[in-house]
Amino acid sequence: GVNTAYCPLPISRLRDRLTAPLWKLLQKASQEAEKRGWHLYLVGGAVRDLLLAENQKQVLLEDIDLVVDGFHKSADVGAGVELAKALQKIYPGVRLEVHGQFQTAALLWHKDPDLGSLWIDIATARTEFYPYPAANPEVEASSIRQDLYRRDFTINALAMRLTKPRAGELLDFFGGLLDLQSRQIRVLHANSFIEDPTRIYRAVRFAVRLNFEIEPQTESYIRYAIASGIYEQIQGKNGRAPALETRLKSELKYILQAPYWKPALQLLANLEALRCIHPTLELDEKLWWEVRLFDRCLQKFDPQKTLEHWQMRLEVLIAYLAPDFRGKVASNLQLPADSIERLENLDKAETNITQSLPKLPLKSEIVQLLRQYNLPTLILIAVRCRDVVYNVSTRTVRQKIWRYLTEWSQIKAPLNGNDLKALGYKPGKQFKEILDALLTATLDEKIDNRESAEAFVAEHFQMDK
Ligand code: ATP
Repeated sequence: GVNTAYCPLPISRLRDRLTAPLWKLLQKASQEAEKRGWHLYLVGGAVRDLLLAENQKQVLLEDIDLVVDGFHKSADVGAGVELAKALQKIYPGVRLEVHGQFQTAALLWHKDPDLGSLWIDIATARTEFYPYPAANPEVEASSIRQDLYRRDFTINALAMRLTKPRAGELLDFFGGLLDLQSRQIRVLHANSFIEDPTRIYRAVRFAVRLNFEIEPQTESYIRYAIASGIYEQIQGKNGRAPALETRLKSELKYILQAPYWKPALQLLANLEALRCIHPTLELDEKLWWEVRLFDRCLQKFDPQKTLEHWQMRLEVLIAYLAPDFRGKVASNLQLPADSIERLENLDKAETNITQSLPKLPLKSEIVQLLRQYNLPTLILIAVRCRDVVYNVSTRTVRQKIWRYLTEWSQIKAPLNGNDLKALGYKPGKQFKEILDALLTATLDEKIDNRESAEAFVAEHFQMDK
């Protein structure tokens, strides 16, 4: 049944939690719906966040889902689209996007002086296009209920009516309010994760972010879905794969770039959900150590975040797979080309570096070897070296990469091209040779200041006349 008897957030208090321009916008939207005899609801994350917010606190909403329940006489325009168009007349600056043939419209404000950046999705509840008396509460309930039933968790399946009469009433068909209060992530039905495996990642995301618990029955549905091999769908074994993978990637990104990525990753691992990335992927102690060390390295070597850190974290996970799987998993997840290439070539780079490094006594030789690789590759290899931690030679591999990254890669010769010119050397082919020799001699500590450098050049190179 539907519980609309109790709403902890009457419309007067809802008003306090929204910015004045957003409140006004929702009022306008409701009026437009009322004029047409439709119902309008606020649904999804916004209702959840408004109900969760502490008293008196305004909630920053940038992403709002509305559902309009109404019939439009013209069969090729959904009520949602019509309502969006009506709002566009009131707010001429807004961008309107229509998705699908009738069903949804989006209104986008970008850095609006009043509304800021705001994205409003307007969906149409009615799936069948015939008129019914909007005043009939039973029909109304079944229509919005259908829309909410397609959603992921009870706490995301609450609707707040915005239109009169009974504006501010909460429609709670699935016990979402109770779950909000007892902090539970609960699916609406047993098949939820089979239907859409990315909901496993969403469950983890909401649980960690909101500090909720995944309700035990829901957890058992997750484990059942994983055990039944649901992840095979994702890994390109049937026609649904591409869309699923795009969504899995965006959920992964969401999780791995969040401040709470560590507990989220642990919870994913605990639920064996990392198998959705690859059936053999497990977050054992070694991998857990690697991702954390990698993260510290990134903070040190890329404090400006010129690299995508979430993606680098994902690369550490993928690198943990057997070499043959890495490229395929990376391309299934539609990572960028350089990332796929890095993972595909990691094995070769790793072998080259771990075999060559112990044989190179000179700093200059080490620099020459490591200079061929970019930062992410070197950090990946350094972090993974622990593979054979008891093997002295691989331990020094990590130390050498580390010293290269922190010190040796920054060493410069005491003389540069301009200095050579000033000394009377003519720019040309010989120049590069001299500069290379100078750097080598500096790295190997044969020279360490201007005078010794000048003497070195005079001794080894004849001036081209
Ligand atoms: P956030 O604050 O993280 O954006 P949100 O709840 O708004 O949280 P969205 O990903 O923006 O999350 O999704 C909006 C709404 O759409 C959700 O509240 C949920 O009701 C529904 N939804 C999104 N993804 C799914 C899914 N995979 N399956 C079912 N419903 C979904």
